[in-house]
Amino acid sequence: MPFTHGELLKTAAKASQWPEGDLPEIIFTGRSNAGKSTLINALVNQKNLAYSGKTPGKTRLLNFFLIDSRLVFTDAPGYGYAIKDIESARAFSSLIDPYFNHRKNLRGMILVLDARREPSEEDQTMIEYGRSAHLPILVVCTKADKLSKQQISTNITKISNVLNVPESNLLQVDSLKKKGIDEVYNAIERMIKPS
Ligand code: GDP
Repeated sequence: MPFTHGELLKTAAKASQWPEGDLPEIIFTGRSNAGKSTLINALVNQKNLAYSGKTPGKTRLLNFFLIDSRLVFTDAPGYGYAIKDIESARAFSSLIDPYFNHRKNLRGMILVLDARREPSEEDQTMIEYGRSAHLPILVVCTKADKLSKQQISTNITKISNVLNVPESNLLQVDSLKKKGIDEVYNAIERMIKPS
């Protein structure tokens, strides 16, 4: 059974607002509409947890969710068309750079992708962030229910090649029907396991 409880711990625009403590942390990133909120909600079996971070004014912030009092999910703003203008790109990187460079308890990164789409430049940039911080990287391909088995397998291979991430680090889910969620849960448990 995946996690059972999540609550919004903190929203942060800058490092001084990050929550204190040393619980292991997982960062979730992805293009707007990729299905990041739905995935987080499915992982904790709560309908509206991650949507609480999507209210106006909070979309440019990092949202920290405390999960079962033992780990933290950090939800990064969804990127997309908006990031194409220089000012939003700057705002995004000034939020994300210090986090990836200095967050000591950061233990892994989950990149959320729509299984139907080719990874974007921003997706590739996020992978680079994860690599520079020497994090384990898991790519979760959502909306698998919208593709045939054959299409999924073709797309997974393509995504793996474009991002240069081994297929073993790619998972597919249908977050609405909660298919594949246990596998994501297991991958997170592996990331946070003390070494
Ligand atoms: P976010 O912007 O990345 O947080 O995306 P959301 O979680 O808000 O999802 C965007 C849309 O995709 C919503 O309408 C979701 O219901 C839908 N969605 C998300 N995951 C899935 C999935 O696995 N399967 C299907 N069919 N729809 C999904």
